[in-house]
Amino acid sequence: MEPVKLGIIGCGIAARKLHFPALQKLKDKFEVVMVCNHTEPKAKSFAEMLGNVPYVLDYHELLTNSKVEAVLIILPIHLNYKVTLDALKAGKNVLLEKPIASNLEEARKMLLFKKLYPQVKMVAENFRFRETFYRVQEIIKNDIIGEPYAAVWNIFYQITSDSQYAQTEWRINHQYPGGFVTDGGVHNIAALRMLFGDFIQTNAFSKSINPTIGKTDTFSMQFKTEQNVHGVLNLFFSPVGYEQNEFHIFGEKGSIFIDSNDIIIKTSKEEETRESIDDDGGYINQLDDFYRAIRENTENHSPFEESFRDFEIIVKALTIDEGNNY
Ligand code: NAP
Repeated sequence: MEPVKLGIIGCGIAARKLHFPALQKLKDKFEVVMVCNHTEPKAKSFAEMLGNVPYVLDYHELLTNSKVEAVLIILPIHLNYKVTLDALKAGKNVLLEKPIASNLEEARKMLLFKKLYPQVKMVAENFRFRETFYRVQEIIKNDIIGEPYAAVWNIFYQITSDSQYAQTEWRINHQYPGGFVTDGGVHNIAALRMLFGDFIQTNAFSKSINPTIGKTDTFSMQFKTEQNVHGVLNLFFSPVGYEQNEFHIFGEKGSIFIDSNDIIIKTSKEEETRESIDDDGGYINQLDDFYRAIRENTENHSPFEESFRDFEIIVKALTIDEGNNY
């Protein structure tokens, strides 16, 4: 089958560091035919990375190019709604970087796209495609730890104003609630929902420790899911001198501890098995899913409805937490 002819809108960090390596591995499935960035140096240098493909500065020009079958939208979040709508109106298949939108009103309107436009509409929520979480699903399905009843996920990672993500002005003066908490937190919500079902109850608190990185950087949420798993998600982006990403899952017969790409299973104090998972972050699986949805007409595994829900959970948690201006 022919590779999908892809146009990329937004040539920043995620385009270069996350999508470019995955596209290099999927040359039989995607041919990048045009890229766009509103500032020329980034458009030009990314076009060169891809082998001197044509570049444009106005995304409308990319959308009117009949060669482009599908678009990968990797823009500041507040542009997601408008550019997605324009791409669908132009008849393109869409793979949109998460989170789905910058507010719930726009996100709700994006749910209506399902009926209005027949093309593939998918959100690039890579956590839905990570090998680590596929393996955890398998461990749970094989009854190795029994019925999961609780989960605790701690992300302690200091983002300072000189870190690459804090250099993007749209993240610091964010036009969406939650700043880094929302930008990063939708990933964790997506994984938790994929493993334990939808959230049916939440309670959250947030605050800002370092205002130079946005209005919110510290968030704790208690949750309960439809599979009766309860737990805590802590997203702390300003802890001084401490870094940790630890995901614990507790089952009736054992526990799972995910430490980066290592899965540690404990079925007693003494018994422990450790597996190292080959996990690129899900970027290759994600693109492959998009390809199959276009060429083989399969259902994509990250439809707008799922990403809407990830986003809604975190935005509502922030809204209910009235002590902050997020
Ligand atoms: P970024 O580095 O700022 O990239 C965005 C790019 O869009 C910049 O190059 C920017 O150019 C360009 N741009 C802005 N307005 C434009 C317009 N109207 N037309 C064309 N180009 C325009 O940000 P990023 O870190 O790549 O993030 C982009 C998206 O990817 C966000 O949705 C983010 O949440 C997502 N992301 C996902 C992951 C993941 O793991 N899935 C990781 C990181 C980011 P200038 O900089 O010159 O203004």
